[in-house]
Amino acid sequence: MQEPILEVITGCMFSGKTEELIRRLRRLEHGSRLEDWTEAFLVILPTTKRREERNIKKIFRQRVHQISDPEEVFDLLSPTQRVVAFDEAHFLSESLADVVEKLVKSGRRVIVSGLNVTYTGDPWPTMARILCKAEDIYLCVAVCAKCGKNRAVRSLRLVTSRELILIGDKDEKTEYEPRCLACFEPPTD
Ligand SMILES: [Zn+2]
Repeated sequence: MQEPILEVITGCMFSGKTEELIRRLRRLEHGSRLEDWTEAFLVILPTTKRREERNIKKIFRQRVHQISDPEEVFDLLSPTQRVVAFDEAHFLSESLADVVEKLVKSGRRVIVSGLNVTYTGDPWPTMARILCKAEDIYLCVAVCAKCGKNRAVRSLRLVTSRELILIGDKDEKTEYEPRCLACFEPPTD
């Protein structure tokens, strides 16, 4: 039986947030007493225009749903699903903070994974609100691309776009690199 709790996994890009989320869901899968373990949880991804296929989608297949409005989760959820996981949650609107609270109050375990800060180093509003409600926070760090220390918490944008959400077909590794606080320089123009 899963306890109702709000768990948050956060950090910069390439810090292993989704891998940590997958690890927790796999544990759940192994521990589930339901004959059909796929009924035990629901995975939510935001609808983004990126063409890449997310790894989490390939792993959990029919349990993964893409939404654009956080409220949509209530239409997707079945009574047996006592765990709801959100990946890339920073892309969903701030109302997600109220939605996850409702889910916890309905007795569910909620795991939210998302970026801590934008490319300018400012908090992602949705994640900031959720972090203020979290009962368990796990900070993922990456290796800083400049100094090599294992404590990068920010994502440095390598291309010149000033859009908050960079939509491209390129590999994210050519667009961002992880930096520690000391090595991060926000864009100046
Ligand atoms: Zn560094």
